[in-house]
Amino acid sequence: MKPVKFRAGEPFDYTRRKFIYDVSAVSAGLVLAAPLVSQAANLLKPQEQYTVQQVMDMFIKDVPGGALKETVDTLKAGSPDSIVKGIVTTMFATVAVIRNTIDLGANFIIAHEPTFYNHPDETDWLKDDKVYQFKRELLDKHGIAIWRNHDYIHRLVPDGVTIGVLDKLGWRKYTDKDTINILTMPPTPLKELIRHAKSKLIIDKVRYVGDPDQKCSRILFIPGAAGGQRQIQAIEHVKPDVLICGEIQEWETAEYVRDALAKGDNISLVVLGHIASEEAGSEFMLNWLREKLPGVKTTHVPTANSLSFM
Ligand SMILES: [Zn+2]
Repeated sequence: MKPVKFRAGEPFDYTRRKFIYDVSAVSAGLVLAAPLVSQAANLLKPQEQYTVQQVMDMFIKDVPGGALKETVDTLKAGSPDSIVKGIVTTMFATVAVIRNTIDLGANFIIAHEPTFYNHPDETDWLKDDKVYQFKRELLDKHGIAIWRNHDYIHRLVPDGVTIGVLDKLGWRKYTDKDTINILTMPPTPLKELIRHAKSKLIIDKVRYVGDPDQKCSRILFIPGAAGGQRQIQAIEHVKPDVLICGEIQEWETAEYVRDALAKGDNISLVVLGHIASEEAGSEFMLNWLREKLPGVKTTHVPTANSLSFM
């Protein structure tokens, strides 16, 4: 599929496109079909009513090891018993995404990242915060449920997020058969890798450390925010020509790569931005929902970067 340009909070509705396609197929010749036919079609229809809990359970059933005792993938708002009217997939359940969800007539958001600005979504420290209260009231008023699907989607084999992004980059063919985060490709200048990633993932600007003309063949690809120690240990272990990641702490991985360059290593670092590096994982989630729950209206609403560049 061609990359689609989008702006923050602008919904990209696969379901509606499919629906329009199906309607035109119907009007091409089936409109006058007898009522009997539509009754038969109803009998064959998959179940269309699910609770929030049923949708979560269906996904967890697909994950090796099943339900986790300790996980951040909890319900952040709404009731597990709510009947799902429509689902929105996204990276972050921002206020803009919540408003889009309401406009779409949907009531269930499946987000990859926290809703309330910290990893476990603890809210005690926020209870008097006006921004938190505003968001909570918006969710409660419209009966919106939010489930974070982070630990589970990353535990799929292979990792659902990484596969989603690699497919978008057209790089799955370069992956190591045991470790999909390690890629081997024909020697490519760093600036060409960056140009490719920016165009496929629709990124305005990336940050990097290294020589734009450096030839890169062995790539370590770690979307999201793995943390400085994991990134640095992975560089030492894999010895890539370039680490392409989502997010860094500036004072950790970037400084390590700068020192490695000074030492004479053939290494560079590309920081895509957290959301850009994992957005396609939310689309993986959308495709999963479309396959398993074809009767439920499902929409992907890109979160886009909170940060602008000038
Ligand atoms: Zn992630």
